[in-house]
Amino acid sequence: MSTVLDALQSSAITFTALRRDLHQHPEIGFQEFRTSDIVAQRLRDWGYEVTLGLGGTGVVGQLRKGSGTRRLGLRADMDALPIQEATGLPHASCHEGLMHACGHDGHTAMLLAAAEYLASKGNFQGTLNLIFQPAEESLGGARKMMEDGLFERFPCDAVFAMHNMPGFPQGQLLLREGATMASSENILVHIEGKGSHGAMPHLGADPVVAGASIVMALQTIVSRNVPPLQTAVVTVGAFQSGVANNVIPQTATLKLSVRALDRGVRLLLRERIVDLVEAQAKSFGVTARVEFLPGYPVLVNTAAETALAREVAIDLVGPANVVQQTEPLTGSEDFAYMLEKVPGSYLFIGNGDASTGGHGACMVHNPNYDFEDRNIPIGAAYWVHLAERFLA
Ligand SMILES: [Zn+2]
Ligand SMILES: [Zn+2]
Repeated sequence: MSTVLDALQSSAITFTALRRDLHQHPEIGFQEFRTSDIVAQRLRDWGYEVTLGLGGTGVVGQLRKGSGTRRLGLRADMDALPIQEATGLPHASCHEGLMHACGHDGHTAMLLAAAEYLASKGNFQGTLNLIFQPAEESLGGARKMMEDGLFERFPCDAVFAMHNMPGFPQGQLLLREGATMASSENILVHIEGKGSHGAMPHLGADPVVAGASIVMALQTIVSRNVPPLQTAVVTVGAFQSGVANNVIPQTATLKLSVRALDRGVRLLLRERIVDLVEAQAKSFGVTARVEFLPGYPVLVNTAAETALAREVAIDLVGPANVVQQTEPLTGSEDFAYMLEKVPGSYLFIGNGDASTGGHGACMVHNPNYDFEDRNIPIGAAYWVHLAERFLA
């Protein structure tokens, strides 16, 4: 066991308590006021230069040591989800309808544990930028921080992040070079028809029938347009129209979630959706407009940085506990924005599987999920070793 891990095992009680306190007080995206105050206060106590207000509630802690010129960014997310917690744990959420159901409380605690160690005992030369971002869940807090000049004000030669993952053994580290998380597109299709009496459909233009045909036509994109060896998902999650049996409504709205693991496929999906919707609408005598809401890009881990992360992971937990090239996921992550700008790598830490059971093995975004506290020293030690290697 590394001496770093030893030291972090001894501070684990403190950071477990901190993690559970954050868990009890979850805050939704861009409202992480209490959380960012705690983060900022701790970082200041340990000698970091702290900048608040990037992307609203984002925090950056900067620490320079020696004369090194390299600059490293390590990122954690801080936001919770609008879920009513059902774990019944002593540290369960005190906030009605809000819950740390994705483990961002744990990500924040792991990076803070590393921050304390790196400030007091860290052996590195250069600039360390610790990035605590708001609003990872769908709201694009990473992009907001970047719009506020994150990488202009805190230039980084590489940037890294970590997410816990239920379904994998506790403490296992999973890496991947290349596309690792899918792009995510939230799309609305607004269909405008002509309302009529349900008994006289020939006098109207029915948006329900047009919408039904659009839903079916959209299913052909993955089967007929996307190359078979590529990954793509087109889900129609909502179809809203009408209220009464005997009324042909005026409008219908479809809500789509669209995923891809390749930037080219992402563009193909966008193009085909617009083409199909417009052509289908025309054929039914209605009009339709496709609205693209802000989405997330494909998360692509760069080769050199992933190789370094692998070496660090193997040295820390041994080759048997490292998956060197894990399968990509069709979930999304706004760290993808940072990786579009700066090379780096995003890895997963196993939160527990069927062999351990319990709340850690429960999938994220489920009301019975909880972050596995035994991962705090492991995740923190990974950050410390990575910083010491990158800023050697
Ligand atoms: Zn999540
Ligand atoms: Zn998450």
